[in-house]
Amino acid sequence: MALERLLKGFADFRMGYYREHLDLFEKLATEGQAPKILIIGCADARVDPGILTQTQPGDIFTVRNVAAMVPPAHLPPDARHHGTSAAIEFAVRGLAVEHVVVLGHALCGGIGALVDGRESAYAHYDYLSTWTSIAQEVRDLVVREMAGRPRAEIARALEQAAVINSVRNLMGFRWIAEKVQAGSLVLHAWWFNLTEGQLYAFDPVAIRFQPVVGLKLDGAVTQGTALSAIDPQRFVSAVAGRKPDF
Ligand SMILES: [Zn+2]
Repeated sequence: MALERLLKGFADFRMGYYREHLDLFEKLATEGQAPKILIIGCADARVDPGILTQTQPGDIFTVRNVAAMVPPAHLPPDARHHGTSAAIEFAVRGLAVEHVVVLGHALCGGIGALVDGRESAYAHYDYLSTWTSIAQEVRDLVVREMAGRPRAEIARALEQAAVINSVRNLMGFRWIAEKVQAGSLVLHAWWFNLTEGQLYAFDPVAIRFQPVVGLKLDGAVTQGTALSAIDPQRFVSAVAGRKPDF
């Protein structure tokens, strides 16, 4: 049944969307892709970046993984299979995207497992906790600074702090830091709240995620941004000192 739905969907796509956008697909096939934006999102089935942003084929280069995380750059690069880093490298060096967006989200299972640590039902899995340990230091910080607060508050703080951690990790890739410094690449920390259908963007000045309203948006990390502005510790301290906004 589940698969039939996909096949029906593809039949509809072929007869509908594909036909209506024949020129676009022909252009993409002959000229190749030239997206200006890389979105690093979560694999969660509820938060499809293309649907959330109503984009068309060719508009965004996307990499999705558990909890929308960017691992630290491995220096020097080794021979392991760095899938997320390879996708980021191709988008930034190969496609020369102008924006990189890390898109976290509310009720993220990967972040929830990280919060729960050894208590998590997934703690014994082969790969999951190793992957999400990218944000282990930030997790420990959030749990310590927000001790006694409800789990939902702690999870939300970590969902957002993990996005900032990933943006900071992006700056550890030489070819990203150079482009940001040159002004040809802007990094963004976003968080989507699916319970209210609202997108939030990290504001390094206010040290919080602010609702995105209208069409104007400043980058979290541009040419003039100090690295300290994307320090997860600074963000966690700010969150821990505030009343929850939900
Ligand atoms: Zn998620």
